[in-house]
Amino acid sequence: MRAYFRNIYEGLKSAVAGLRVTFGYLFKKSVTVHYPFEEVKVANGFRGLHHLKVDICIACNQCANACPVSCIEQTFDRIDKENVLVSRFSIDYNKCLFCWYCIPVCPTECITMGAEYELATFDRKSLDYDLVARGERTAKRNMTLFREEFVQVIEKVREKKPELAEKAEGLMGDPRVGLCGRNPEKDKSASSGFVEEEADSQASVSEEVAP
Ligand code: SF4
Ligand code: SF4
Repeated sequence: MRAYFRNIYEGLKSAVAGLRVTFGYLFKKSVTVHYPFEEVKVANGFRGLHHLKVDICIACNQCANACPVSCIEQTFDRIDKENVLVSRFSIDYNKCLFCWYCIPVCPTECITMGAEYELATFDRKSLDYDLVARGERTAKRNMTLFREEFVQVIEKVREKKPELAEKAEGLMGDPRVGLCGRNPEKDKSASSGFVEEEADSQASVSEEVAP
């Protein structure tokens, strides 16, 4: 009989201990974010997608030589002794380890790693990024959610989180948001699989599909 009540006591005690932890977190500020509708802030020194200042790249190939997985390739034309025209600088993110080895070896400090981390895609070929073609787009956001799925996600959250749905709809019209995947015309025009459409055409596509 004594053991019976002791078991009840132990059970209640452990339940209270567990609930105390749960309630402790219930009133703390949330550390999660509503990705992809909210941007995740990365720490200083985060090794995200590469940036290239192509105008000061001297095509010395040091970065490619330092890369342990040989995922950097360059195409360039030497104009004269001092000038070189880099027409393609590709990094295959199927292979890149984000190890940073390519950064300190660069003599002109033209290659760096930024804060972008969004690489999700349904097409592995699209992970071969051409940094020259991307240019300033490197600093812009590439959202790889399929357009139709994006609309569905918005509809799902609308009831419970109308403000989030509104924000997401705003993103649909944001030219910085690259929507890639099921648009064969776009796939044809994208030289590296990365979203290459001009801001205007992206905005107009977004308008067409926006609910
Ligand atoms: S971060 Fe590492 S794996 Fe990626 S391109 Fe640079 S050297 Fe290669
Ligand atoms: S090490 Fe720097 S300058 Fe040399 S090819 Fe790579 S990015 Fe260009």
